[in-house]
Amino acid sequence: MFGGDPTRVAEANSVAVIGLGRFGQSLALELMAKGTEVLGIDGDEEIVQSLNGQLTHVVMGDSTKEQTLRQLGLPEFDRVVVAIGSDIQASILTTSLLLRFDIEHVWAKAVSDAHGTILEQLGVKHVIYPEKDMGKRVAHLVRGAMQDYIEIGENFALVKTRPGQAVIGKPLGEAQIRSRYGVTITAYRPAGQDWNYTTADTVIQADDTILVAGPTQKAEAFSQLT
Ligand code: ATP
Repeated sequence: MFGGDPTRVAEANSVAVIGLGRFGQSLALELMAKGTEVLGIDGDEEIVQSLNGQLTHVVMGDSTKEQTLRQLGLPEFDRVVVAIGSDIQASILTTSLLLRFDIEHVWAKAVSDAHGTILEQLGVKHVIYPEKDMGKRVAHLVRGAMQDYIEIGENFALVKTRPGQAVIGKPLGEAQIRSRYGVTITAYRPAGQDWNYTTADTVIQADDTILVAGPTQKAEAFSQLT
């Protein structure tokens, strides 16, 4: 174990991450970078040593053992991410222990639809499919002129893109983007400056970057306009 007493991490602004593979590490380090305390747990000694000093606490242990999870204070956490993928048995055993502890927010990574279905049937409210979701996202980026793309829910997306002629040089209030294209330009970034909210008076320039919100197909089509 590294970094003091892990049972003392379970405060409001803290998350336990179980499984510190590529996904778990990236998640844990991003949480740390944003000021959240992280208890990381992994069964691999080398991984645990390599993260020593980078997470609030990092501990070697087998998360399928109830005793280990109790010793590490897991029942006191209200947010835990199970980032074990390939070892489906370990993922399911760990997750079911956490659910038995009545942890309010359990997030679990699934590597296949079948794995995800089992996690959902166990009662996990937040099942994540990193590979599948990233594949879908990249497909949208590869197809179009978008610089970035996030699907917010069923058939609604936020798209970062360059403006087409239809929006350049006149106030957005006059460009009638919503009625003509079914999307809204929510924010824009002039070259070399910060992002701003748009207003009816905003005039988009050719070298601005814009953030478009709308039904997925319409937002994608809008980003293809030149
Ligand atoms: P990634 O794609 O994020 O690298 P993965 O989908 O290949 O991960 P796994 O290899 O199953 O997932 O697990 C990720 C991490 O979880 C590994 O570092 C592994 O050591 C750890 N892990 C697996 N089983 C257990 C367990 N029972 N207890 C603690 N850690 C575990």
